[in-house]
Amino acid sequence: MFRLSYDTIIEKISSTKNISKQEIETKIQEKIIELQDLISKEGAAHIIANELGVNLFEIQNKDLKINEIIPGLNSVNTIGKVTNIFEIRSFSTSTRAGKVANIIIADETGSLRLTIWDENLINKIQNLKELDIVSIKNAYSKENNGFKELHLGSKSSLEINPPGISIEEIKISRMEKKQIKDLKDNENAEILGTIVQLFEPRFYQACPVCNKKVNFLEDHYECSNHGSISPKQIPILNMFIDDGTANIRAVCFRDQAEKILGQNPEDFNIVKSQTMGKQYILKGRTKRNEMFDRTEFTITEIQEQNPKELLKEMESSINI
Ligand SMILES: [Zn+2]
Repeated sequence: MFRLSYDTIIEKISSTKNISKQEIETKIQEKIIELQDLISKEGAAHIIANELGVNLFEIQNKDLKINEIIPGLNSVNTIGKVTNIFEIRSFSTSTRAGKVANIIIADETGSLRLTIWDENLINKIQNLKELDIVSIKNAYSKENNGFKELHLGSKSSLEINPPGISIEEIKISRMEKKQIKDLKDNENAEILGTIVQLFEPRFYQACPVCNKKVNFLEDHYECSNHGSISPKQIPILNMFIDDGTANIRAVCFRDQAEKILGQNPEDFNIVKSQTMGKQYILKGRTKRNEMFDRTEFTITEIQEQNPKELLKEMESSINI
């Protein structure tokens, strides 16, 4: 519930009331004793702030920098510059149809994905351009595949190019290029490797809205978020990638898997012969598979390495 950290609250009380931090901490300790330990120190700090007439609400509603946004926050306000705009996707379930829009925003501290579910807000961003500035209010933050995301629902608001606000510098939370032998668990990375083994795809039934796996209940498919839906088939593709330093098992889903299965999904042998031995750039995240005692790579983006670009990169590294 408390969005402000204990230290932030003390800082705020100290600066507005000109009281030493030590004195504030003493008051907080006394409050905890008075309430017979029935309250957390953050809770007690809120009470003390209130007793001293310090308005925490005001900073609770201040804009957060992108690197201050952690997953699991409600009513997040932030400002960012648009760096990518993805195509708006449509979906339909048995109970509703709608659209979802995704954009990437950045400030001087980092970047994140913004997912917009609200129809009015999606209409509002029809003419959004890269480098526009957006001011977001009342969003909620989530974690998805190791990346943080801000989601905008019906209670959220978005303003494009609010007057008087500019962002000069931006920092893109870039992925580090790594060799497979250097990969650690739970990190985002980009690897360049060859597909040395490709396994036959498996499919699962997923919600067309949120892409979560759905269960069959008596006579219909049920998504825990979206109720009764008609599922879509989502492919899972497992492979081994080798970059000369080591190899790693990797997995990709839906659109990334479809990129590989693409032209000939019905004849897997053709896909296999066209894919094996080719070089790919893979962005994703490593994860420990405890059962098999190995590190695996979950691919968020797979792209065939363009030989021309590879050559250019090699030449430029030779010139250094
Ligand atoms: Zn769903």
